[in-house]
Order: sequence, then structure tokens, then C-alpha cells
Amino acid sequence: MFKKHATVRYPEKTREFSEIYRGMHVLKRDDKGAERCTACGLCAVSCPAEAITMEAAERKKGEENLYREEKYAAKYEINMLRCIFCGLCEEACPKEAIFLTDRIVTTDYGRDSFVYGKDKLVEPVDARIDVTKRQTPEVLEFKQQKKLSHNR
Ligand code: SF4
Ligand code: SF4
Repeated sequence: MFKKHATVRYPEKTREFSEIYRGMHVLKRDDKGAERCTACGLCAVSCPAEAITMEAAERKKGEENLYREEKYAAKYEINMLRCIFCGLCEEACPKEAIFLTDRIVTTDYGRDSFVYGKDKLVEPVDARIDVTKRQTPEVLEFKQQKKLSHNR
């Protein structure tokens, strides 16, 4: 009876989250605002829940400011009901294009609304999502190596 409750009165109270809490993903842009994802598919292959699907497209002339490389994801979807937030997609990505963040996937009544597309996943140009604190010192050091093409 006098024991500490295991539950909290959410949403009035929230628990403290770990600094590296793995929540909703973000698809990052580069310094100039172009989408980093090249639709290589490595995140999808590494996903144990088969939650990621995408369609690749070729960048057209004049779209250099939109997409970082010649290939990009015309469609990119994550099924949040399948996702187990393991972070393997983030680890697999050679372009530092996908990260899990501390944002929570919101609840809903319909299953379809949990399939998140680029409209929800790509960070807005004017509201960038800082993920630097979630990266290890080794990764941050690696990113300084400008000679590696994906760090440009
Ligand atoms: S966090 Fe894990 S389960 Fe979720 S999409 Fe990424 S690899 Fe798949
Ligand atoms: S998010 Fe990364 S691993 Fe996934 S398709 Fe894009 S570039 Fe490849």
C-alpha cells in the first residue's frame, strides 16, 4: 500500500527519458538542405521487422538542391506498428540519412495512419532536428573526414 507506484499519471506526468531514447525516425537533410537519402535500401535490408519500404528515383537536372546524390527516395515509408525501434536502420545507413530521435510516435485509432511517409519523416528545411547529441564521439570524429564522399 505504501510502496512507490510503478505507474505515472500520464499525460499530466511523464517519465524521464534516456538520452538515447529511440523514438520516431527522422530523414536528414545535408547542410544545404538537400535530402541525404540515396535510396540504397540498406536500412530496409537491415530492418528485422521489415518495416521500411521505398522506391528509388533518378535525380533530374535542376534538382541538385533537393537531393544530395543522383539517386533519391521518391517514396520512403516506415510502418510504425511493425517497427521495434531497435536502431539497426540508423546503424546500417552509410549516408547518415536516418536517425531515431526522442520524438514519440503519436497514438491513433486507424492502422493506416501508422505508415509514415516522407511528409512525416523528412525534416523540414526551416525546423531542422539536431541529432548530434545522439551520436557517439567516434561517429562525430568520422564525420570530420571530408575526403570521404558521404561526409562532404
Ligand atoms: S528501428 Fe529497427 S525495426 Fe524500426 S525501422 Fe529501424 S531497423 Fe526497422
Ligand atoms: S536511409 Fe540511408 S540506408 Fe536507408 S535508403 Fe536512405 S541512404 Fe540508404
